[in-house]
Amino acid sequence: MASPPNPSEIARETLRRLAARRMAPSPENYHKLYNEIAGTTGDVIELFPERELRAIQSALPRETLVQQKFARRFDMAVNGRNWAQVRECVADLVRQLGEERDLPWTGLLAEFLRQWEGRQAGLTAARKREAVERVLSGAAGNNELLFGRLQGLVKSWSTSAPADEEIPLVGDEAEVPQGSVPVVGDVVSDLAQRIGEESSELRDLFAYTFEVLIAAQLGDEPELAADARVLARKVRHATTRQALSGLQAGIKRFAFRLEILTGDRAELRAGLLNLLQLLLENVGELVVEDRWLVGQIAVVRDIFSGPINLRSIGDAELRLKEVIFKQSQLKHSLNEARESLKQMLAGFVDHLAEFADSTSDYHDKIEACAVKIGKAENITQLEDVLAEVIRETRIIQLNAQRSRDDLRATQQRVREADRKVSELQAELDRASALVRHDQLTGALNRRGLEEAFDKEVARAQRHHSTLCVAMLDIDNFKRLNDSLGHDAGDAALIHLATVIRETMRPQDTVARFGGEEFIIVLPDTSLEDARKAIVRLQRELTRRIFLHDNNRQLITFSAGVSELRPGDTQASISKRADEAMYAAKQAGKNRVMVA
Ligand code: GH3
Ligand code: MG
Ligand code: MG
Repeated sequence: MASPPNPSEIARETLRRLAARRMAPSPENYHKLYNEIAGTTGDVIELFPERELRAIQSALPRETLVQQKFARRFDMAVNGRNWAQVRECVADLVRQLGEERDLPWTGLLAEFLRQWEGRQAGLTAARKREAVERVLSGAAGNNELLFGRLQGLVKSWSTSAPADEEIPLVGDEAEVPQGSVPVVGDVVSDLAQRIGEESSELRDLFAYTFEVLIAAQLGDEPELAADARVLARKVRHATTRQALSGLQAGIKRFAFRLEILTGDRAELRAGLLNLLQLLLENVGELVVEDRWLVGQIAVVRDIFSGPINLRSIGDAELRLKEVIFKQSQLKHSLNEARESLKQMLAGFVDHLAEFADSTSDYHDKIEACAVKIGKAENITQLEDVLAEVIRETRIIQLNAQRSRDDLRATQQRVREADRKVSELQAELDRASALVRHDQLTGALNRRGLEEAFDKEVARAQRHHSTLCVAMLDIDNFKRLNDSLGHDAGDAALIHLATVIRETMRPQDTVARFGGEEFIIVLPDTSLEDARKAIVRLQRELTRRIFLHDNNRQLITFSAGVSELRPGDTQASISKRADEAMYAAKQAGKNRVMVA
């Protein structure tokens, strides 16, 4: 068996073949041929450009923690002459640079927390938590993927955030928000682990979450709030990945305690709401007699009958305050007026009694005179008696006249007092009816609409006349709200309600049906006339343009009109109008369709 060729022979042969094959004399080509001739694999000989790497190493900045960390890794790779490690080190650095530049985590996390704390239509805390879990699953170590997913999620939450902040209904298990605070703890801890804790900004944000967002919610739990602050301090000082990982168990424990606390609070809230509902039901039944209170109770009960939202609570509070204030003033005057009416009536009765007394006295006297006349024996006696009769009669006449005058005056005063009482009562009715109006636009609210509609239908039936309902919905209102702000949206609603009231006939009823939807009830109007009236309203709205900050904003609406049919309820006729309105939207908006 031939002995293996020695390295110098191989080297010589390698150089010969390089020349023969006209290959460039590069180190790579040399190694390739060398291995080929020696029958060895390529990785036996590795080039390590130590001199160049040392030069880079000494030029590395070592100021910040991140820089020091990178330099240490680089040192280790160069000192160990580990080319693979050097490559990995540089690749990581470049990746990290890309991430730090392209992925604005801080902003995203801040927005995430904001959306997490906020409420979105149809999203419960449990559902949000699920969504976050989906975002996290399989994204460990892939910051870009995680960032993209989280960004998508935050965006979808922010676009589904309604103006009305809906709080789920009491008693609906699935809807009761559970553990919103601890979930924030969990999520933030997960995120911190995945994102790479070397970012001091993120660490600060994480600490801020504990210190401000969580601790602030624990005002009535000082012990837990103190723990949150301790955790915040620890997070601030945990500058390494290991230190942060070490905190995980503590954070989990804290989150667990929060979860229990939140559960307790949810139970407490549900209990209190039940109690309130019970009380309201009872009061509602007791006050059927007091028509001025019935409306107020109804407003509060309405709030419980749908999804409770902060907006409707605020709206009801405003309305109730106004009504209660007016009622308290009016009730005071009403009581005074009633009191004086009572006194006058009592005086009236006394007078009558006196009059009756004096007339019976007169009768007695005349009777006595009659007896005297019967016994009279001469003309002189008779004249005396007659003189007495005449005197008594004159007195009674005078008395009667005085009494009649007195009684007339009292009667007049009683009538006036009675009129005042009725006036005050009517005013109290009007004040109580305020609860039937929409606070923002002054149009009727749904309750007011129901009452007005019932009256109009009864009237139409009595007079065998027709009646129409128009449903209006502002076009692209969300865009207006988004671009000019909610207050501008509110002002636009007020503007529309004003134009409707001033354009339609006095007998037409205007009600705010929902957010940017209005209903107009047009008594004694044919379908075609109603359509024309609404088209006229559209033109008027284009003419009386809405001004916001001195900028002209064109508001348009789509509308559907329906006519009363036998057996219609307010819901059924409104539904047809709504369907026609929807068709108007489909057909391109800013138009009126007939059901
Ligand atoms: P479309 O033309 O199809 O009707 O689109 P839209 O944007 O008008 O309809 P959408 O139903 O999507 O949006 C209605 C918006 O009205 C959403 C909500 O934020 C807003 N909104 C509801 N109530 C009020 C309110 O009282 N004030 C203000 N400013 N906005 C409200
Ligand atoms: Mg709408
Ligand atoms: Mg709309």
